Amino acid sequence: MDAKELLIRAGLSATAKRLLVVQALTEAGRPVTPQELLEPLGARMNRVTLYRILDLLVERHVATRHNAGERAFRYCLHGGPAGHAHFTCSRCGQTECLDSHALDEGLAELLARLPMRVDSAEIRFGGVCQNCLRH
Ligand SMILES: [Zn+2]
Ligand SMILES: [Zn+2]
Repeated sequence: MDAKELLIRAGLSATAKRLLVVQALTEAGRPVTPQELLEPLGARMNRVTLYRILDLLVERHVATRHNAGERAFRYCLHGGPAGHAHFTCSRCGQTECLDSHALDEGLAELLARLPMRVDSAEIRFGGVCQNCLRH
């Protein structure tokens, strides 16, 4: 699915700036901070606009916002019924999205059985990443 389709499916009009943000998130391929997003966007986007668009994307479930235990939130494109799991390396601090289909299915089943309305879920694994394990 391309950036435009993602926005339209979420009921959002595909403005140039929104497209830029979704494309930057796609290219990052891992959870990034707003600061990391601003670098490639450069002069085409100011911080306030970026935050406003990120908030909107989270609200419409296009993106996931999560806290990897740092000062800044990280954003990535949404996946799974309740977001998806993340892994944070305790040595290099890198956070990545996990392809957690089995987990997502279990989670969807759990959420369907719960009497409350769940709006967000966050599953975070910690440990040592492949890169760091090799060194
Ligand atoms: Zn690492
Ligand atoms: Zn993610």
